[in-house]
Amino acid sequence: GFSSCSKDSPMTLNLTNTAKTYNDGTKALLSTNLKVSTGEIVSLLGPSGCGKTTLLRIIAGLETPDSGGKIWFDEDDVTDLPVERRQVGMVFQSYALFPNMSVKANIGYGLKMQKLPKSDIEARVSEVLEMCQLNDYSERAVTALSGGQRQRVALARAIAPRPRLLLLDEPLSALDAALRETLRDELAILLRKFNITAIFVTHDQNEAMAIADRVAVMSKGKIVQSGTPEELYRKPNSTFVASFVGSAMHLTGKIRGSKIKLNGGEISLPRDGTDCEAYVRAENIQINENGPLSGRIDNITFLGTHYRLGISGIVPETITSIFSGNKAPKIGDKINISIEPDTILLLPKMTIDD
Ligand code: ATP
Repeated sequence: GFSSCSKDSPMTLNLTNTAKTYNDGTKALLSTNLKVSTGEIVSLLGPSGCGKTTLLRIIAGLETPDSGGKIWFDEDDVTDLPVERRQVGMVFQSYALFPNMSVKANIGYGLKMQKLPKSDIEARVSEVLEMCQLNDYSERAVTALSGGQRQRVALARAIAPRPRLLLLDEPLSALDAALRETLRDELAILLRKFNITAIFVTHDQNEAMAIADRVAVMSKGKIVQSGTPEELYRKPNSTFVASFVGSAMHLTGKIRGSKIKLNGGEISLPRDGTDCEAYVRAENIQINENGPLSGRIDNITFLGTHYRLGISGIVPETITSIFSGNKAPKIGDKINISIEPDTILLLPKMTIDD
């Protein structure tokens, strides 16, 4: 990790049979196994209420898992260790910085609590100030910083005590859309610079894909699929993951063998699709005057690098297509489209609950 860091190399996190039932009976987390390798950055991605925060809080030691669950930091069973003894760094949505303190004082706060010698505190603070590019702001009050700078201070403060594990809960969600996009790349770079094992909670798929080495997609208290961003995008294991990661759209129609009949016409599937549902992504819906499906342009959004077209008549819902040519069709135009069979995702019909 740190240049001047003697012992610490990143740790491995291992959760076995970890579940959480709250006092009111809510099963927020069903029995979960999760392994995070040394230095790996894993994102927990899922819609509101799926149990992401619960899982993160269990790892931190802020919640106790149901009996039978175990949490390992390397070879250490930390299941019964309280939060203050787990050596985890945490960054939250509201940065929870001390408004009346300078950047430097905020970053050094945890070290002072640990009663480290003054010279050690100073050395570490200047190390993280440098790493997080906050040198120019060290004496400033945190209230006089931009959202992005505050976020870096929160990160610097979490990392200064050299935690074994870094936990981040929606750290970008307080920022506006444009800033979020810049900062997520910056955060991805910083986290790798720290060389620390990290878990990052978000409901934003772009954020998860941009920052994580591996994404664990959660739904209704379960990790339903875990993989690299590419794996999840190209080989989703369920209709839920296909739509949540990369917004695949349902091709609602009648599947007969390796054909599917839609409202707009019939097309071929990559293989026999009996008992499956067919899904497709916007970039694979191609405007093609000889295409077998006919529809109508309902709306057009110009996005600089491409247009996003809403097309009706193919399936009951409006289907979205990415169009990157120069001359986009107009609203109301009748068009034909084609979908290459091998771009169609055939997914098991069952729901996540089954
Ligand atoms: P969000 O993205 O909205 O924060 P989340 O995926 O982090 O959602 P959790 O906060 O882990 O979800 O909550 C999972 C489930 O547990 C939800 O149904 C929530 O209402 C419930 N829950 C959370 N905390 C408690 C609690 N202290 N007591 C009872 N139920 C709770």
